[in-house]
Amino acid sequence: MRIILLGPPGAGKGTQAVRLVARWGIPHISTGDILRANVREGTALGLEAKRFMDAGDLVPDGVIIGMVGERLAEPDAADGFLFDGFPRTVPQARALEALVNERDTPIDVVIRLVVDQDDVVARLTGRRTCSECSRIYHVQTDPPAQEGRCDACGGAIVQRDDDREEVVLNRLEVHRTQTAPLEDFYFERGLLRDISAVGSVEEVTERAVAILGEYDRPRGGDAA
Ligand code: ADP
Ligand code: AMP
Repeated sequence: MRIILLGPPGAGKGTQAVRLVARWGIPHISTGDILRANVREGTALGLEAKRFMDAGDLVPDGVIIGMVGERLAEPDAADGFLFDGFPRTVPQARALEALVNERDTPIDVVIRLVVDQDDVVARLTGRRTCSECSRIYHVQTDPPAQEGRCDACGGAIVQRDDDREEVVLNRLEVHRTQTAPLEDFYFERGLLRDISAVGSVEEVTERAVAILGEYDRPRGGDAA
């Protein structure tokens, strides 16, 4: 399966991605997580990306496209992947289309998580993230068992710098102007499927699973 999750920041892409890749046995490719790992490690890429991320702006397309090209060349992506947070612009979507066409491995489906702006502001400003393993929490709806410590790995739980309200509002504006046009791009290709991202995490997962089940082709045999 080759899947893209679309939706504004805070829609629940990362939360759903982890659950869906566990069911389909494919890698979760989050460009935000890759960038944050580079920032933490102080790589040249991280240093270049940080100022865009801190402001809630997009990292330039050339940087992101190069990074994704390298990630897709890794062996675990050969049999499928789920993108979360990529593509974010029409040029990124065109570059991805060229990459997957070259390998004759087209995208199967683009699932858009639909949620309104007030909900995403509350989700983003209450989001907390493990600084070690990136597991996602929420101060009200999904707190860790022990305050400040990740349930999964014991790492420190922090608020992302770009989840502060001033930056969140810019990120939503960037999404509206630069990322929302992708919805037409994928609609025109017959790939776009919408689900409501309102409801419990489990309910949203079941909506996504119902759609993905329509595309899941048997492996290694005649699909007919
Ligand atoms: P995205 O990856 O789209 O930016 P996240 O998956 O990080 O979004 O979710 C943003 C915040 O919303 C997190 O704090 C997460 O715990 C919370 N969240 C995710 N799904 C739901 C849901 N269905 N209902 C309420 N809160 C949710
Ligand atoms: P995310 O974790 O997806 O919310 O991304 C966090 C930040 O990383 C974004 O606000 C951007 O600054 C940057 N970023 C992540 N993915 C992309 C992308 N595909 N294109 C450009 N910038 C990105």
